[in-house]
Amino acid sequence: MVLPPLADELLSSWVSRQADFYGVGGGQLLRHCSLEAANLRELDLKLTSFDRRRLGHLFRYDPRAIRNMTQSRGRPQPVGLIATTRPMQTCTRCLTRHRAESATRGARLRSWMEGWRIGCPVCGAAMVDARPLDLLTRGDPNNALLVSVAEPARRGEQMMTRAIRLGRRGNQFVALMRNLLLPRATPVRVGSFRDEIPRLLDMVVPGFDRFLHRLYPAFRRPGTLLLPLNIRIPVLAGVARVATQPDHWADSLLGSVADVVRPPLAECLRDLSNRGFGIGARPPP
Ligand SMILES: [Zn+2]
Repeated sequence: MVLPPLADELLSSWVSRQADFYGVGGGQLLRHCSLEAANLRELDLKLTSFDRRRLGHLFRYDPRAIRNMTQSRGRPQPVGLIATTRPMQTCTRCLTRHRAESATRGARLRSWMEGWRIGCPVCGAAMVDARPLDLLTRGDPNNALLVSVAEPARRGEQMMTRAIRLGRRGNQFVALMRNLLLPRATPVRVGSFRDEIPRLLDMVVPGFDRFLHRLYPAFRRPGTLLLPLNIRIPVLAGVARVATQPDHWADSLLGSVADVVRPPLAECLRDLSNRGFGIGARPPP
């Protein structure tokens, strides 16, 4: 008896549900089946070809489909956009549906670990933050700025999804997410703006600096791009706006950053420009 995988399910989650079904631990199952992975999560992050074939044989499932359940789908991983240990966000609708059945309880979906998602690819519901710290600082989803950028943010998410599928060739979109959070070179240090770090994104999504400062006063420089949803949404909106018209934004953005970061930003914008209107995105009216 083999439980079928769920849509968007992580390989580790699927294997873990089989182990639960047979009343053994995940690690126990890996050892019993003589797999190379030291733990379940390794199956998602670095599946070996031996394990892929072995799981295909054991679970009578196409090894290519098994590879497509991993985090990288056999391509290079998007740097800084994959959570390695626990989900950053979840889809409440899918979670509730899975909880209702013992065979699907506890399932983890791949999109919950992906740092560019704002909507569930399975059912379309809005994702919600899952990390304890993000839950504490969760703002109002009806916030005026979040509402005003909802549409471009969705386009940005679609662009990122297509870019990630391209592997390294889509890297300039990941770079753009990072670059939009760069500080501007000439901060406005007057009055109540004193503690804010003016960022490039505020030029593309006006009001972002205030919003960020009010919601996350301690936010400085992101080490990774695993951003809470409230920051991710305006960042994705910025990605959509800049990637659709990189030449339009180039002068103002390049003129606003410190000398040291100008060359990589210029390269990112040039790559986007050469690609033409984002990846399959429509030009603005
Ligand atoms: Zn869902």
